[in-house]
Amino acid sequence: MKTKKKDIRALTLEQLRDFFVENGDQPFRGNQVYEWLWRKSAHSFDVMTNISKETRDILEANFVINHIKVDVMQRSTDGTIKNAVRLYDDLIVESVLIPTKTRTTACVSSQVGCSLDCKFCATARLKRMRNLNPDEIYDQVVAIDNESRLYFDRPLSNIVFMGMGEPLMNYKNVLKAINKITSNEGLGMSPKRITVSTSGVPKIIKKMADEEVKFNLAVSLHSAIDEIRTSIMPFNATFTLADLREALVYWYHKTKSRITYEYVVWKGINDTQKDVDALVNFCRFAPSKVNLIEYNPIDDGKFQQASNQALDMYVHTLERNGIVVTVRRSRGKDIDAACGQLANKS
Ligand code: SF4
Repeated sequence: MKTKKKDIRALTLEQLRDFFVENGDQPFRGNQVYEWLWRKSAHSFDVMTNISKETRDILEANFVINHIKVDVMQRSTDGTIKNAVRLYDDLIVESVLIPTKTRTTACVSSQVGCSLDCKFCATARLKRMRNLNPDEIYDQVVAIDNESRLYFDRPLSNIVFMGMGEPLMNYKNVLKAINKITSNEGLGMSPKRITVSTSGVPKIIKKMADEEVKFNLAVSLHSAIDEIRTSIMPFNATFTLADLREALVYWYHKTKSRITYEYVVWKGINDTQKDVDALVNFCRFAPSKVNLIEYNPIDDGKFQQASNQALDMYVHTLERNGIVVTVRRSRGKDIDAACGQLANKS
């Protein structure tokens, strides 16, 4: 239920310390509460046992903790877990835990619905309702970290922003969440284990480069030919491949970080030699890696996975040109948790 009280986790540590000083208490009380809120992921003020009852009552009177709630958890036969996550205003987003032999990856959402309209993506059919707050992104990660410890006996090892939404359309909050995830007051994770996957918003890619962010960048490319890319990702008409490439060149010169491209090969859309040649050309300016992702149909059959021959052609051509390539099988298809399938169907 929506409440008029302020979400205490929207406050910085400094603001929290100031709050206690203004209320006649010591500033370090702010540090204690901050630790409960972030490192210990407290869902209520009552559990803050080193804080007096009187102080907890003051907190209760002024603030709420808008914690997310995992409404439904589904487990795939391959071990993948999908969480339907309820937000404070009853909207729902989804996040996914993907286990492999050596790592556990969280795929998290950054928006409710999506601002973009990629034709192959189930999320695109949901209207964008709002951006997620930093704490709502952080909480998805904590929920998956807990599930990883419970079901796989190990902490979460990696995070990808590939769930619902375009993370660079909510850049400010995504960055705040990542700062919290990587800070010692949060989860203390290395930024090198975090990948932000974008459809390509040139202005923000340049901003990230200027800010010298330490996390990885992946671009959902899917075609290096404007006409084709615009037909499957209409926003490409505004943010063209030339603009995207210019931003990526800028990114590489500033960060010297390899760029990963996410790429699906569809039958009759981008499965010819001309398509792969354009991709090779597009990647040439910097060390690149291409993830060829298996496609998961989202119902109308317009987009179908290309043949194995077409995939082989991509792999051979990319390798011959010195571009690292991996073929990624999708996980969690039976629970609609695979790439492009997140659409609040659980
Ligand atoms: S692929 Fe990503 S950016 Fe495109 S509509 Fe789906 S969620 Fe949005």
